[in-house]
Amino acid sequence: MSTRSFSARITAWQRAHGRHDLPWQRTRDPYRIWVAEIMLQRTQVATVIPYYERFVAAFPDVRALARADEDAVLAQWSGLGYYRRARHLHAAAREVADHRGGAFPREAAMLATLPGIGRSTAAAIAAFASGERGAILDGNVRRVLARHRGIDGDPTSRVVEGRLWALAQRLVPRDGVEAYTQGMMDLGATVCTRATPRCDACPVAGDCVARRDGRVADLPGRRARRALPHREVQLAWVERAGEVLLERRPASGVWGRLWSLPELEVGADPVASLRARFDIAARLVGRLAPVEHAFTHYALTLHPSRLTARASRRPPPAECMWVARADLAAAALPAPIRKLLRAGVRDADR
Ligand code: SF4
Repeated sequence: MSTRSFSARITAWQRAHGRHDLPWQRTRDPYRIWVAEIMLQRTQVATVIPYYERFVAAFPDVRALARADEDAVLAQWSGLGYYRRARHLHAAAREVADHRGGAFPREAAMLATLPGIGRSTAAAIAAFASGERGAILDGNVRRVLARHRGIDGDPTSRVVEGRLWALAQRLVPRDGVEAYTQGMMDLGATVCTRATPRCDACPVAGDCVARRDGRVADLPGRRARRALPHREVQLAWVERAGEVLLERRPASGVWGRLWSLPELEVGADPVASLRARFDIAARLVGRLAPVEHAFTHYALTLHPSRLTARASRRPPPAECMWVARADLAAAALPAPIRKLLRAGVRDADR
């Protein structure tokens, strides 16, 4: 089988059966394509669509994003997770606005110099914005290629990834790179899926090694697994006259620069800890059920306690703010904290 015929089949399939009406497919604007590609890195299309539409309505071009303050950007991202993506997006917009004349680049080589844009993302943006030839290798494409060519081993290991990149590059067609690139993404997302591939509907099934050898379920190889570390955190949900105390998280680590409930030492008396950390006098209302949350690199158990503080005119402690319950929806909160607060506020309103 020639590499040309693989690409030709993917391209023809995409034109006939692929996705054509996603909001970011209706533009050649590299800024909008970039926003979509970053959102899609860790999140499925159906989830991304409303976030994308709200984000580009709030920040219609790179200058608008560069001018926005960080809280506004994080608030638009709130719920999508992997917030480093949003901080990179903001940093890259400022870099383009302040040092590159405000014109968002459309060439892969330039794109790859911006924060948060890796080789595959740069190639995808360049392909969709200007038809530039280049290979992509996201999780979906890795899976399609590993199965089609029967490439075994951890697909994120250096050796296997090197083979996959070399193959991906050989397969890029001379013409129609947009349809081919979109076709590889669509095939991985809708046909050659991780759990339930639909080989009967696949345009390259005729020479797929995994299908021929009955190894579809075994490919790609599994990532080398490490036991996930586990962390526990006590959270103080403090209210004062209808306002909730939020603390900004440090820039490094998870949920960087987002607003969250203040953290206290696990197992410590929340009233005494709150006084020691923030000099706030409060009384304990009750302890809530623990909340479990899994990150890619560790598991987290949150132990929230509800407290009521005395009304006071004192300004909030450093890196903290009091937010009216009604305004919590607009704050840049991590999804598990937003969910916890929403459920608790609903209960309190009953
Ligand atoms: S035939 Fe099946 S396993 Fe092979 S590439 Fe197509 S969908 Fe994937």
